[in-house]
Amino acid sequence: MAENQLGQQYMILPEGASRLLGKEAQRTNIAVGYAVASIVRTTLGPKGMDKMLVSELGDIIITNDGATILQEMNVEHPIAKIMVEIAKTQDKEVGDGTTSAVIIAGELLKNAGSLLEQGIPPAAIIKGYEMARQKSTEILEGIAGKIDINDHDKLLKIALIAMGSKNIGSMDTKKLLAKLALQAIEQVAEKSGNKVTIDRDFIKLEKKEGGSIEETTFINGVLIDKEVSHPGMPKSIKNASIALLDVALEIEKTETDARIEITSPEQMQSFLAQEEKMLKAMADKIAKSKANVVFVQKGIDDVAQHYLAKAGIMAVRRAKKSDMEKLAKATGARLVTSLDDLTPADLGFAGMVEERKISGEQMVFVEKCKDPKSVTIFVRGGAKQTVDEVERALTDSLGALASTAESGKYVTGGGSTEIDVALKLRDYATDVGGREQLAIQAFADALEVVPKTLADSSGMDAIDTLVQLRSKHKGASGKVYGIDVYTNSIADMEKPGVIEPLKVKLQALSSATEASAAILRIDDMISSKGRGGGGGPGGMPQGGMPGAED
Ligand code: ADP
Ligand code: MG
Repeated sequence: MAENQLGQQYMILPEGASRLLGKEAQRTNIAVGYAVASIVRTTLGPKGMDKMLVSELGDIIITNDGATILQEMNVEHPIAKIMVEIAKTQDKEVGDGTTSAVIIAGELLKNAGSLLEQGIPPAAIIKGYEMARQKSTEILEGIAGKIDINDHDKLLKIALIAMGSKNIGSMDTKKLLAKLALQAIEQVAEKSGNKVTIDRDFIKLEKKEGGSIEETTFINGVLIDKEVSHPGMPKSIKNASIALLDVALEIEKTETDARIEITSPEQMQSFLAQEEKMLKAMADKIAKSKANVVFVQKGIDDVAQHYLAKAGIMAVRRAKKSDMEKLAKATGARLVTSLDDLTPADLGFAGMVEERKISGEQMVFVEKCKDPKSVTIFVRGGAKQTVDEVERALTDSLGALASTAESGKYVTGGGSTEIDVALKLRDYATDVGGREQLAIQAFADALEVVPKTLADSSGMDAIDTLVQLRSKHKGASGKVYGIDVYTNSIADMEKPGVIEPLKVKLQALSSATEASAAILRIDDMISSKGRGGGGGPGGMPQGGMPGAED
């Protein structure tokens, strides 16, 4: 209830709504953001732990992947949602570095909390953070090394480090997957001059439980999780000429309410004969184009299937739109929307199209394509949880490889880069001075959460390790020193090949900075949700843990 100058009382918010203002809102939001980051923090790095998530329906996910954990948690609180967005953006933009981005954001928030307590206004903190981020970009560009798309050795290391923390079996298994990821990236990479572009959407990850991870394979083409639509059709075609149709091979039902009056058996006969003729004509048009394989995005009538089978044509119906696009890229076929337009020039090529039975289900392999710009990695593994985690591991590797190939730059991992940037930022902070200085220092401190967490997870003393790392980095060639989690020591990260794409680090800093700034700018949380929804805005108990609601 509020009151105006005349003493009249009026309602601004509906009954049952809740509101948090000023410092209280900031404190709560920082606590929530930090709590979300704390959840994924222990998963960081190869010695990180896994999380087991159980959905309402009892589905189980065991993973180490920051983005997956946060998405599956179904957090309610709006601030928690912003934190989840960081992971999503990171995943979408660069495919790796999600946990790092989220825990850095959590740390930025926590440090901002202390600055707020000291009376530094949010605007100064946000400005300082943004200055620090810009400076970090400059520093990172400066310490990054160059990498060529043909440098297989280095790229394999990057692929391997990116999937390093996933629990998917032995080093040999990971090496195999890293090779497959690299093969896929090299195949779809489009080069023009010095520029490389990679569209990760055209690397299909198709998974099927069964077999072992080692049976995961690379397919130079597209694997379609569908069956050949008619038993009379060929199941295997060499040197296939492929038509892609966005046409229904059916007699479309009239959309209006028109009715056809059939009054005699003869009429019925001729009506059916007419239908059959039309369907046969469709099959004939396809046969005339000389296609021997056809993928149809819509349905295929039984009669049309029969005639296609008679003509020796393999057909797959109700193919997904996304698969049709992939098939077009892989085979060079053009997606045709009217049968009358179909000509031999629209057909694509694959050395082999074959239906195979995989763990009891039919799948259609379109493979041996000529220099396809769309490929598949067929993921196998004993259980659903396994293939899911292998898929996530490959996603991280593919993201890291694509980011590296596109920007041509890498940095060392194991916390080495974060320590180096933090050190250089502190020098910069002194130059800047004023209130922003404190925020830039807080930003530098936040970055050190990465080496600190890696040290923690490998059982090293975090404070000791940080002190040692800092002094190493003050030396001339110190920038490569980080934490070797396998030997529990401080080492040159180039030696064990712990390297990562520059782009992943840059993206992590920008999404973490943006999200923390967005959260710090809020000084009023209004929730019009009903009373039953819990304590604070968004149905969260104030300052509590996400997911721990009543
Ligand atoms: P993210 O989701 O942030 O990629 P990860 O769990 O993949 O999280 O962990 C990435 C961190 O682990 C990076 O800082 C990386 O440098 C570090 N890391 C990965 N492999 C190693 C290794 N073998 N030794 C030391 N650090 C490693
Ligand atoms: Mg990673």
